[in-house]
Amino acid sequence: MKFQSLKKVDPEIYSLIQMEKKRETEKILMIASENYASRAVMEAQGSFFTNKYAEGYPGRRYYGGCEYADEVERLAQERARQLFGAEHINVQPHSGTQANMAVYFAFLQPGDTIMGMSLSHGGHLSHGSPVNFTGKLYRTVFYGVNKDTGYIDMNEVRRLAHEYKPKIIITGASAYPRIIDFKEFSEIAKEVGAYLMADIAHIAGLVATGLHPSPVPYSDFVTTTTHKTLRGPRGGVVMCKAEYAKQIDKAVFPGIQGGPLVHVIAAKAVAFKEALSEDFKEYQKKVVRNAKALAEALKRRGFKLISDGTDNHLVLVDLTNFNITGKQAEEALDKAGITVNKNTIPFDTKPPTVTSGIRIGTPCVTTRGMGEEEMEHIAEIIERVIKNINNDSIIKDMQKKVKALCKSFPIY
Ligand SMILES: *Cc1c(COP(=O)(O)O)cnc(C)c1O
Repeated sequence: MKFQSLKKVDPEIYSLIQMEKKRETEKILMIASENYASRAVMEAQGSFFTNKYAEGYPGRRYYGGCEYADEVERLAQERARQLFGAEHINVQPHSGTQANMAVYFAFLQPGDTIMGMSLSHGGHLSHGSPVNFTGKLYRTVFYGVNKDTGYIDMNEVRRLAHEYKPKIIITGASAYPRIIDFKEFSEIAKEVGAYLMADIAHIAGLVATGLHPSPVPYSDFVTTTTHKTLRGPRGGVVMCKAEYAKQIDKAVFPGIQGGPLVHVIAAKAVAFKEALSEDFKEYQKKVVRNAKALAEALKRRGFKLISDGTDNHLVLVDLTNFNITGKQAEEALDKAGITVNKNTIPFDTKPPTVTSGIRIGTPCVTTRGMGEEEMEHIAEIIERVIKNINNDSIIKDMQKKVKALCKSFPIY
């Protein structure tokens, strides 16, 4: 992308985009919720559809001139259906949180009880956190992981569900490294007469390629983002059974959103097409292999991992035995050129602004072509930084190693 007009019209923004490009190129990005969308996705997103209003749904719009927008949205829906096998798909949510909001607004009343995974155990803000609208509008109950194993405590989920009779049970997480048993969640939901919503924002790419069991057969609603492992534009999707289609569509528009972002929907369609390819399946396999390789390499170096490993695209590191906080680790690693995020660990004693852990994901490094050998190398750099957090010369050395590694794996 050449940005010739932008350079002339707005040199400040142009230059910030160039700096961001440099950052994404020269650092090792390991934020588990990020990825590099393809150029094709970005071209679709930067297209003429930016100019189009298309309130409503294909064939039922409130504006003229929607004939191509209709086709774009239908293609996005059709490809998402092929990917996930859901009965009904709405591709309009602007984000993962909006997708969740649509489900809640369609089927809950303020004051109803919702049950989700605790934020500090890996859940998401939009699953009932007190600082989120979900925590303000609904009564909330939280389950978490078992203190010894780090796995979701399904006995606790069942016990809480029976005790509090939530109207909806939410499964899915932002910082959980293991397979989620959607079938058992659905059994529990049935026992207590609750709806089940599976939020696969993080693992959508794995689910689409069969590397994580799909929640679609077991859930009333499945929500996702399109920009994490799925590697599309920033956005959300809601899937549901046919019987809920009308209510979900109404909740998205006109319930919580106005006009859809047709340019983003076009980019979603492109990402779904890419995700249907054999290449993408190979990519997801590598994401998981890399996460396992990274987990093993970190463990060999004395790092404690929540649940002692991973089944998916991320690891959650407990740093308490190194006596440093997540915040310190995040800052030191970023100086060395590895970008991760501080993350609370289950039963954390530190606040979310400090934390005792970091979350490390492999989607970005895998997209740029790194493999298991590089994961070993990265684990070594992480170890050196964490063990020498105040030693600037070692951090500088590591920075050189990171730059060299990045040079061998160009992003576009
Ligand atoms: C990232 C995430 C979301 C929200 O996505 P946004 O697009 O940032 O609103 C929702 N649920 C889970 C589990 C997530 O990890």
